[in-house]
Amino acid sequence: MTKRCPAQHDAHSAGDRTQWRHQLLVIVSAGIAFVVIFLYANLFEYTFHRWLMHGLRRYVSQPYEMHVHLHHRIFRGDHRYHVLRADDRSFILFEWWQAPLILGPHAAVLWGVQAAAGWPVLWPGLAALGLYYLLYEYLHWCMHNPTGRRIERTSIFRYLDAHHRLHHAYWRINFNVVLPLADLVFRTFRATSLRAGPRMLRREPVTTGSARHLLRATSPARAHFAAAMTSARRAFMTRW
Ligand SMILES: [Zn+2]
Ligand SMILES: [Zn+2]
Repeated sequence: MTKRCPAQHDAHSAGDRTQWRHQLLVIVSAGIAFVVIFLYANLFEYTFHRWLMHGLRRYVSQPYEMHVHLHHRIFRGDHRYHVLRADDRSFILFEWWQAPLILGPHAAVLWGVQAAAGWPVLWPGLAALGLYYLLYEYLHWCMHNPTGRRIERTSIFRYLDAHHRLHHAYWRINFNVVLPLADLVFRTFRATSLRAGPRMLRREPVTTGSARHLLRATSPARAHFAAAMTSARRAFMTRW
C-alpha cells in the first residue's frame, strides 16, 4: 500500500475541492437556466396566444383559424366551456406537428448559445420548454374535458381553470394558461371576480364561417395520419 506524503495529500484535496466547486457551478447554472427559460416560455405562450392565435397574420393564419374559428367557437365562457360532443375534443390540443415546429428552432438557438458562450443551457432549456409545453397541453385538456381527476380538485387548478374560462368569455384578457405572469406584465390580467374595462370585455368575435375546411383541405393520407395522432394523444390524455 502506497502512502501519500502531506504535500501530495494537500494537492489531492485541493483538486477535489476544485472539481466539487465546478460541479456545483454547473448545477447552479443549469438551475438558473431552467428558471429563466421557463419564464421565457411564459412570455412565449402569451405572445403566441395573443398575437398569433388571436391575430390573423397573412402568412401564418393556421393558429388563428384553429383557435378563434374552432376552439373559441366551440368552447365558450358558459356551460359550453366543457366538451359537449365527443368530437370536439379534437379541438383542444395543438396539432401534433406544432411541438417539433416550436421546440426545434428553440433547441437550435440554445445549442448555439451553449456552443458560443459555454453556458450549459441546452438541456435545462429544453427541459423547461418541454415541461411548459406539456403543462399547457395537459392543463388545457383537463380544463375543457374534466373527468373528476385528482388535479381538478386542487386549488391551483381551479384558479387557473377560472382564469381560462374568463378568457373564453372575453377575448382580450387572461391569455396565459399555465401561469398568468405575462398577463400581469402586459396588464391583461383580470381576476376571476372580474373588474375589466368595456374594451377588454368585448366578447370574442365569432365568425359564421368554419375553419373545418382546413381539415378537409389536407390530403387523405395526411388527414388519416393527423386523425390517428389525435386519437392516440386523446387516448393517452384520457387515461391521465
Ligand atoms: Zn384564446
Ligand atoms: Zn381553451
